[in-house]
Amino acid sequence: MSFTVAIIGRPNVGKSTLFNRLVGKKLALVDDTPGVTRDRREGEASIGNLKFKVIDTAGLEEKFDDSLEARMRRQTEIALEEADVALMLIDARIGITPLDKHFAGWLRKSKTPVILVANKCEGKAGMPGLMESFSLGLGEPIALSAEHGEGMAELFDVLLPFEKQEADEDAEEEEKPLQLAIVGRPNAGKSTLVNYLIGEDRMLTGPEAGVTRDSIAVEWTYEGRAVKLVDTAGLRKKARVQQKLEKLSVADSLRVIRMAEVVVLLIDGEESFEKQDLTIAAHVIEEGRALVIAVNKWDTVKDRQGALKLIRDRLSISLPQVRGVPVITISALSGRGVDRLMPAVMEVYDLWNTRISTARLNRWLEVMLEQHPPPMAKGRRLKIRYMTQVKARPPTFSLFMSSRGELPESYLRYLVNGLRTDFNLPAVPIRIFPRTGK
Ligand code: GDP
Ligand code: GDP
Repeated sequence: MSFTVAIIGRPNVGKSTLFNRLVGKKLALVDDTPGVTRDRREGEASIGNLKFKVIDTAGLEEKFDDSLEARMRRQTEIALEEADVALMLIDARIGITPLDKHFAGWLRKSKTPVILVANKCEGKAGMPGLMESFSLGLGEPIALSAEHGEGMAELFDVLLPFEKQEADEDAEEEEKPLQLAIVGRPNAGKSTLVNYLIGEDRMLTGPEAGVTRDSIAVEWTYEGRAVKLVDTAGLRKKARVQQKLEKLSVADSLRVIRMAEVVVLLIDGEESFEKQDLTIAAHVIEEGRALVIAVNKWDTVKDRQGALKLIRDRLSISLPQVRGVPVITISALSGRGVDRLMPAVMEVYDLWNTRISTARLNRWLEVMLEQHPPPMAKGRRLKIRYMTQVKARPPTFSLFMSSRGELPESYLRYLVNGLRTDFNLPAVPIRIFPRTGK
């Protein structure tokens, strides 16, 4: 499945011309077919190797007999509902008409991202109209000539993120084993936990004689779901030189974290939550993985409430990026509490895979912008036009800005925290990349 683009705008701005250019030869066939209704034309479009579905609304206005405004609005509403993104065309040779203005005012509130396209920009005659179109408040226009095929590269650039989104969705459909890593300092109890999870006997005797504990991945199933356990030094023979392991552990963790989707950071409940634990946790976030913290050797901990509070405090101070990380207390030796570990892993895995529709996202963004508008930069207020999730695993968003200027880190944090709270995304990294239209 590819994404869908709607072409909208008042009559005569060049919608059909653009539609024809995008769809190419195939369209002629469609157009010549008698009985093809004019209320909506759809086609398979491409720009270079970018393929998408395009909806042309030209001609739809003829079907209604009330005011042009009302007709445009209705045709556009229908198209927007189906589209992932809309191209609003204006005629740069004529400039902005009151109808364009009225229409733009209404589109600014649309939940579907709208990209402004100044058509008929070949030569110089379109220049004033192109400049004027900034005033529509739909961001920087793309200068295009549908008739001459100019500006298609820019169109490609702005549409590309919508394809990435689709491609990711397709990739996720294949069921691959969940890649789970257990990391932690030496002696935290990683081997003990792994053995408990996959069954100690099997592990030690192995299907093939002489299975070494050097292996870095073990596959097993949890409630019908394939899980691939990638492990660090914990899987290695304990007889190995302990000192060397100690030195290697952070680098090893990093390697394993990169292979994983969900990382369980195992900490030793007998010791305090140390800098090295935080360093590993920070790596998990930096690498964009989902995190679960397991506090092991809970059987030996006397002041349980105090120990938990200490861990939570340290986390909230040092790793505010992953507010809400599950902290599970276990005893790997007896297996106590381990039954709560895998459900937590599955839960953060699902969160890590979260997808938020562009419509929901932009409804949310509107409220966020209203509550706390973006700051000024060089005397101008930074404008955010819309937002779309470009990928999951971890949730990653493009924020489309219509003016140049850097969005401060604090504002991005405001949006990240908002996403985390409003879409319930604890324990997973959230990334937002601001982009400025060309
Ligand atoms: P629609 O009503 O929005 O579908 O507009 P059309 O595609 O039918 O185009 C309206 C008129 O504008 C036609 O005469 C087109 O040939 C012309 N037109 C479309 N694109 C361009 C362009 O890029 N440059 C120029 N100069 N004319 C164009
Ligand atoms: P690794 O280096 O992280 O793989 O740690 P190990 O699994 O080798 O465990 C280190 C030590 O901690 C061993 O002596 C384990 O028996 C002990 N240990 C592991 N889990 C627990 C637990 O839940 N409770 C207690 N009391 N000891 C544990």
